[in-house]
Amino acid sequence: MTTVTHLECSVCAKRYEAGKVANLCECGGPLLVRYDLQKAKESWSRDWIPNGPSSMWRYAPVLPVSKPAAITSLGEGMTPLIHTKRLGARLGANDLWVKDEGVNPTGSFKARGLSCAISMCVELGITKVAIPSAGNAAGAMSAYAAAAGIEAYIFMPRDVPQANFIECCATGAKVTLVDGLISDAGKMVASRKDAEGWFDISTLKEPYRIEGKKTMGYEVAEQFRWQLPDAIFYPCGGGVGMIGMWKAFAEMETMGWIGPKRPKMIAVQAEGCAPIVKAFDEGKSKSEFFEHAETVASGLRVPKALGDFLVLNAVRESGGAAVAVSDDDMIQAGVELATDEGIFAAPEGGACIAALKKLLASGLLKSNEHIVIYNTGTGLKYLEAYSPRFPR
Ligand SMILES: *Cc1c(COP(=O)(O)O)cnc(C)c1O
Repeated sequence: MTTVTHLECSVCAKRYEAGKVANLCECGGPLLVRYDLQKAKESWSRDWIPNGPSSMWRYAPVLPVSKPAAITSLGEGMTPLIHTKRLGARLGANDLWVKDEGVNPTGSFKARGLSCAISMCVELGITKVAIPSAGNAAGAMSAYAAAAGIEAYIFMPRDVPQANFIECCATGAKVTLVDGLISDAGKMVASRKDAEGWFDISTLKEPYRIEGKKTMGYEVAEQFRWQLPDAIFYPCGGGVGMIGMWKAFAEMETMGWIGPKRPKMIAVQAEGCAPIVKAFDEGKSKSEFFEHAETVASGLRVPKALGDFLVLNAVRESGGAAVAVSDDDMIQAGVELATDEGIFAAPEGGACIAALKKLLASGLLKSNEHIVIYNTGTGLKYLEAYSPRFPR
């Protein structure tokens, strides 16, 4: 079913064989999965997709798994795309939609990436996996590892939301709480993985999580009958969702499913951790380590992303923007989304609404534009962040 051909370095373009265990390129660049899209175009039709499974695996020809038995699925993807009319009318955005990733297994879009990565581990015979995480990736990895029957080792900041800690413990992972951030957790995994025999599933240090995440781009096209919106708001931590969607759009164009038009890609970050916004504002192609990173949007607490240059590329090529919002504004916007529409979003989703307000005010977006906000997780995993707003 898959049309995978090889892996390719996103920095130096060196090729690697598919179907082998791979982390970074020898030059240090992240590897991307490449497919025979001509073959996919000839042997597959976008009109058949609705007959496939009601999960992201309906796009199997452009996913890397070659043995169907390896697929480890808990029903990730095919999330609702909701026309948020009441909120839109109040904000002055008349064609506003929310793609609600909070309904995924484990309550965030991280399920997509980890379903794909763990499926590849099963296919490649990997039995022990380790991940540094800001929280939700850990929860997703633990769940998919449990479903696949492989061992999971989790490294995450001591102050992660309680939901992330409990879900990892409950699904049987070995959890280490780290005094520090995801970057410190990453160093621990890197220093111990060889001796322990762990496969490192850090963001972009293996090529497959991005493949799962890119299905957010395929889905939005399918759900809008192959017309992309004018703008996409995405809360950027490691930026993989953004890079993945951008890759999906290019693949779809090569297969003749969409034209050359692209949405303005809006990267949203927290003021307390905004390395990509800073690099965007300064016209740089890479970000710098953001000191003293702090925000209640734990998924955005990534002080330096390995794929920053790919995010900045996508934002600039699309004519988009990078915007930082305060924690207060994202929680406020999250409550507005919940009150107006019944969608209780993660603060990361709230951040996108807060950023939308800014860009409508600045004139970068107009009231009649077709806008999609990605709510990347459920508010139910962030009760600590919302608690101060609702004292008992
Ligand atoms: C991880 C995470 C993000 C950031 O995702 P990237 O694709 O790595 O930028 C945003 N929101 C939530 C809820 C997350 O868990």
